[in-house]
Amino acid sequence: MKSSRRRLPSDTALATRAIHGTKLYAFQGPVATPIIQTSTYRFADSADAIRYAQGDPDVYVYTRYHNPTVREAEERLALMMNAERALLFSSGMAAITSAILSIVRAGEEVISTPALYGGTYRFFRDILPHYNIHVRYIEPDALDTLPNIVSPKTRLVYSETPTNPTLGIVDIAALVAAARRAEKRTGRRIPVLLDNTFATILNQKPFALGVDVIVESATKYLGGHSDIIAGVVAGRKPFIRGVHTQLKYHGGCADPFAAYLLLRSLKTFELRVRRQNENALALARFLERHKKVKRVLYPGLPSHPQHKVARVQMIGTGGAGYGGMLTVELHGTARAAVRVCNALRVAVNAMSLGGVETLVSIPVYSSHVNMTPEELRRHGVSPGMIRISAGVEGIEDLREDFAQALARL
Ligand code: PLP
Repeated sequence: MKSSRRRLPSDTALATRAIHGTKLYAFQGPVATPIIQTSTYRFADSADAIRYAQGDPDVYVYTRYHNPTVREAEERLALMMNAERALLFSSGMAAITSAILSIVRAGEEVISTPALYGGTYRFFRDILPHYNIHVRYIEPDALDTLPNIVSPKTRLVYSETPTNPTLGIVDIAALVAAARRAEKRTGRRIPVLLDNTFATILNQKPFALGVDVIVESATKYLGGHSDIIAGVVAGRKPFIRGVHTQLKYHGGCADPFAAYLLLRSLKTFELRVRRQNENALALARFLERHKKVKRVLYPGLPSHPQHKVARVQMIGTGGAGYGGMLTVELHGTARAAVRVCNALRVAVNAMSLGGVETLVSIPVYSSHVNMTPEELRRHGVSPGMIRISAGVEGIEDLREDFAQALARL
C-alpha cells in the first residue's frame, strides 16, 4: 500500500477493526496473536530495569502490570470502541469496581439509575458504604431533576442500558445533558460511566452520546462463547491511567490466555451479534403472540414502553439492532418459570449471557437473588420472569423449543 493511500485503522468498518486492529500494513509474523504466558520478563541487563523505573511504558516487567497479549486485546478493544484507551480486566466486576474506585473517594457519592446488574447493585449496597461512599438513585423518567439532587459530594453518574433483566431503557443523551447541567451547579466535573454490556458497541455508541467512560463485561458478547471471564474499561488516556493504578493494586489483571481467547472471539463479534439481534427480535415477536406469555420485554418491539428512545439511541446513532437479550413474563410465578426452563432442550438453562448458545435464567434465582421484595419491585423484577440470551442457532429450532416448553404449562 502506498502511504498516501493508506487508510487509518480508525476509518475502517467495525469488523475490519476487530479482525486486523492497527495492522493495516505488510508485516512478517504470526497472523494469530501469540499467547505470552509469563508472569515476569527477563531484562537484557539492568539498563532495562532503569528504563522501567524512569517510566518507559515499553519495558515489560510483570504481567499484573502489563502483558503483550493483554495489551493487544486492549488496543483492539479501544479501536473497536473509538476510545483513546481501553484496559482489560479479569472480570466485568473487576472493571466496574476499579473504574468507580479510581474516581470516587471516601465521603463522596455516586448518583445512579436503579435497575442495574445485581452484582453492581450489591457492590453499591454492601461494599461502597464500608469506604464511606454512598449511592443515591434517580429514576430514568426523572433525569431532568438530576441537577437538583446533586451535592458538592457528587463525583460520578453511573448507569446501565438496556437494563438487566427488564430491558428498561435509560435515555443516554438526557442523562449526559443532565450531568453537564449538574456540573455547572457544583462547579465540578461529574463523569458519566455507562455499562454497555447488553447492547455492545455494535448496537449502541455511548461515546457518540457524550458518555465519558464505558464499562463492559467481556465475558458476554465480546467473548461470546461462554468460556472466559473478562471485563473492559474504555475512556480517555488520563482517566485510564488512574484506572490502571487501581488494576495494579486491586490485582484484577486479565490472564494472557483469556486475552488470546478474547482476541479470537472479537474477529467474529459483528457476525455473532448481528445474528443474535435477529434471533432475539424473531423470538420476541413469536413469544409476544403466545397465550402462555403475559409480557415480552424487548426494546425492538413497538410494545416496549421506551421503544422510541431505544430506536433513537441504538439504531439512530448507527447501531445495528436492539441486542440479543429479551425477558418474558409468564402468567404464573417462579414455578411456571422453573417448569419452562427445565423443559427447554435447545436453549441452555444457565446464568450469564452473550454466548453463541441461547441461555435462559430466572432472575429471582440468579442476577437478583438476595433482594428484598421491595428491591425486586424497584428493579421491576417479578418471580415469573425468564431472561433469554438469544444465541446464533437456527431460529426455527428456537421457536419450536420454546413452543414445546411453554406447552408444559
Ligand atoms: N454488567 C452486566 C450488565 C452483567 O450482566 C454482568 C454479569 O452478568 C456484569 C456486568 C459483571 O460481569 P462479570 O460477570 O464478567 O464480572
